[in-house]
Amino acid sequence: MEPLFESSVREVSRLVGLQEKELALLEVTDRAANELVVSEFERYIERKFNDKVPEVLRKYHLLGVPISERYGGRGARQLLQALFMERLGQLGLGVITFADVHQCLGSLTIQDWGSEEQKNRYLTKAASGDAVFAYALTEPEAGSDPVSIKTTYIKDGSGFKISGEKYLISNGSIATNLIVFAYPEGTPKELSAFIVDSKEDGFSVDMKLEEKMGLFTSDTALLSFDGVHIPREDLLGQEGKGLHVAYSALLNGRLGVAAGCLGVMEDCLNQVKERATTRVQHGKLIGKHQLVQRHIATIASNLESSRWLVYRAAMKKTEAEKSPSDPGLRLEADRQTAIAKYVSSRLAFDSADRAVQVFGGFGYSTVSPVAKHLVDTRVARIYEGTDEIMELKIASSILGKGFEAYG
Ligand SMILES: Cc1cc2nc3c(=O)[nH]c(=O)nc-3n(C[C@H](O)[C@H](O)[C@H](O)COP(=O)(O)OP(=O)(O)OC[C@H]3O[C@@H](n4cnc5c(N)ncnc54)[C@H](O)[C@@H]3O)c2cc1C
Repeated sequence: MEPLFESSVREVSRLVGLQEKELALLEVTDRAANELVVSEFERYIERKFNDKVPEVLRKYHLLGVPISERYGGRGARQLLQALFMERLGQLGLGVITFADVHQCLGSLTIQDWGSEEQKNRYLTKAASGDAVFAYALTEPEAGSDPVSIKTTYIKDGSGFKISGEKYLISNGSIATNLIVFAYPEGTPKELSAFIVDSKEDGFSVDMKLEEKMGLFTSDTALLSFDGVHIPREDLLGQEGKGLHVAYSALLNGRLGVAAGCLGVMEDCLNQVKERATTRVQHGKLIGKHQLVQRHIATIASNLESSRWLVYRAAMKKTEAEKSPSDPGLRLEADRQTAIAKYVSSRLAFDSADRAVQVFGGFGYSTVSPVAKHLVDTRVARIYEGTDEIMELKIASSILGKGFEAYG
């Protein structure tokens, strides 16, 4: 059988058409991913952020894949970006988290909402690896409901000063710049988005959050902002429009996570194939036991049923981007993305669980690659919109106006 990712690329190319330049980017991605296999597993065992990820992606010029070439990126359309994330996803969701936050929640948000001056200032640096982005929305008391965040800002002579706490922030302790959301202090509530420089006085990493169930190779932090200065030109989008910025960023991020989950399922399938064709029990290869075959069939079906949801959402997003004045297209892209993330994150977790089962006792060992996927992948059902928030989004898009479960 042809390797899973290659067959996926060939199929997409046949149905949708991928240009030479796009195929070349995927070849480079494959090379970068192969270079990261060892470090990703070593850092997982050591429970450390995989610092080789930014280094290797930088080497192959893969830190600005969806960013316009005008700002130093690769100018990939959403479908190509999804295939890029799919290949990296074979390494696990730790790698995906770094790439998704830096590129989709960080850089793309500036590309979508920033002024020309902000794009010139930040995107080239982000694409070259001279800047690393984080996205700081969540707080100890505000997760699924960002409207309840407590971080505030005041205006001072040359800009703003921001104060508050941000929780569970990926890339939080390694970021040079963060997209941060806050309310104006003491006035009627409208959220604004800012680009914050982590070198400014008053910014601190209160704690690296290392007591995680998995995702050890991703950096997660609790951050504190104590009157951190933000120059006026680093307001992102219009003042008071921060919730739109936050939600549109999540839309980009969700697609990356969904695509990364495809890679997880591909790796699970590769791993179980290897195990099932080498491990003997009851006098035969375990792959010859029909109940083991059922797990393999289910993982393969999980992968195929998620794959086209992700590609369809990616194509819908590109369609919506081409017609920004059509809100119907944007809502449809939003809905398809929610479905893709909801389905692929649950099926990736199910696939990792089945892969552990096929591996038996060794699967339960922390040093087995499938156990890494099991503990890493669980987060995809929580971050960038929980399963339940995706369900509400999908259901209300079917039921229509007046059926939104929350305001
Ligand atoms: C490893 C990791 C990395 C993360 N990285 C980032 C990051 O980089 N930036 C960032 O800003 N955040 C990040 N997060 C935070 C993440 O986005 C939140 O954890 C997530 O949005 C859920 O919020 P919460 O944890 O506060 O859970 P809660 O919002 O308290 O939810 C708890 C439960 O209640 C359910 N629930 C809540 N509201 C409703 C409702 N209206 N209807 C039905 N059910 C509901 C939820 O679905 C969930 O099951 C990260 C989280 C993790 C674990």
